[in-house]
Amino acid sequence: MMKAIVTGITGQDGAYLAELLLEKGYTVYGTFRRTSSVNFWRIEELGIQDHPNLHLVEYDLTDLSSSIRLLQETQATEVYNLAAQSFVGVSFDQPLTTAEITGLGPVNLLEAIRIVNPEIRFYQASTSEMFGKVQQIPQTEATPFYPRSPYGVAKLYAHWMTINYRESYGIFGTSGILFNHESPLRGREFVTRKITDSVAKIKLGKLDVLELGNMDAKRDWGFAKEYVEGMWRMLQADKPDTYVLATNRTETVRDFVTLAFKAVDIQLRWEGQGEQEQGLDAKSGKVLVKVNPKFYRPAEVELLIGDPQKARDELGWEPKTSLEELCRMMVEADLRRNEQGFSF
Ligand code: NDP
Ligand code: GDP
Repeated sequence: MMKAIVTGITGQDGAYLAELLLEKGYTVYGTFRRTSSVNFWRIEELGIQDHPNLHLVEYDLTDLSSSIRLLQETQATEVYNLAAQSFVGVSFDQPLTTAEITGLGPVNLLEAIRIVNPEIRFYQASTSEMFGKVQQIPQTEATPFYPRSPYGVAKLYAHWMTINYRESYGIFGTSGILFNHESPLRGREFVTRKITDSVAKIKLGKLDVLELGNMDAKRDWGFAKEYVEGMWRMLQADKPDTYVLATNRTETVRDFVTLAFKAVDIQLRWEGQGEQEQGLDAKSGKVLVKVNPKFYRPAEVELLIGDPQKARDELGWEPKTSLEELCRMMVEADLRRNEQGFSF
């Protein structure tokens, strides 16, 4: 039986990937951190928390000896490293913690693989944030990097260490450069889910105004469930490599807000510019969206658009869900949760 470790099972991608691997017949060791209140709402929402082949293991990515024990005790042959301090905004406030977890953390796993079993296949969750300041569009595996946040810099270190272990020790270390991917399981600190949850609350009369930062930023947003399939395909390939997963479509944050309100039959009219910009209900004239500069970042990634041609050619991977479908799916999930009186 195939055995896989998924670090960060309490996160969006960890939950979807665990679900996929269980469907494929794997035994899955999903790692979570010891915190005051562990949150398993995502795997509960997917209904896999009691699956007989899912084992939840306490683990911290920053600890080398735990990483060694994790590999020794599970005898897994595939490791998907999804654990990270993954929020760009927080990385500006906690650059050193971000470096320790997101940058150095993966090296604990690479070292553990080198020590315990160099045959183990390793997936590193790299990110389009490594491209940062626009050097070239669309962005591909060959685009130069120019990260614009402590998160992007930390991820770039882990990305190069994965390549370095591949080249130095022949370890099957693959790096997936994934563009933003969203879902109803996305954390509420990220802009899409903040928007869909707030739109649901506004529709239900539980919130007056949605406050956002830079609405001109453009992102290439895909559906997370499809992206975890790409991760799995990367580890089934003949050789380790680096792949971009993206949709090749980019839209502004403002466009996503407009789509989300449309999903609850509210048409927005935009007025003003910069910090004065507002989104109004086109019918009633009520202000529903405002800019709050507290959500601006010290340095911004203005434009991301990826070209997934290599993944398409070599892995047969293809994004399928449109941004309109994705946004509607997220708004509907948040309407349902808010109607039931809870929202994670
Ligand atoms: P989430 O923030 O939802 O999940 C991150 C996970 O990492 C959580 O389970 C978290 O646990 C865990 N974690 C954090 N610190 C540690 C630690 N020290 N030891 C062990 N586990 C830890 O992220 P996503 O699921 O969205 O993303 C998965 C990965 O892909 C991340 O590495 C992210 O940076 C990367 N990525 C994501 C993209 C996206 O658009 N979603 C795009 C490109 C890359 P806890 O619940 O305890 O905090
Ligand atoms: P990121 O691409 O990993 O940084 O994903 P996010 O979802 O956190 O942010 C996407 C873009 O939305 C960035 O350019 C942010 O500056 C922008 N943005 C605008 N307002 C907000 C907000 O209120 N919260 C977040 N998280 N991002 C915002």
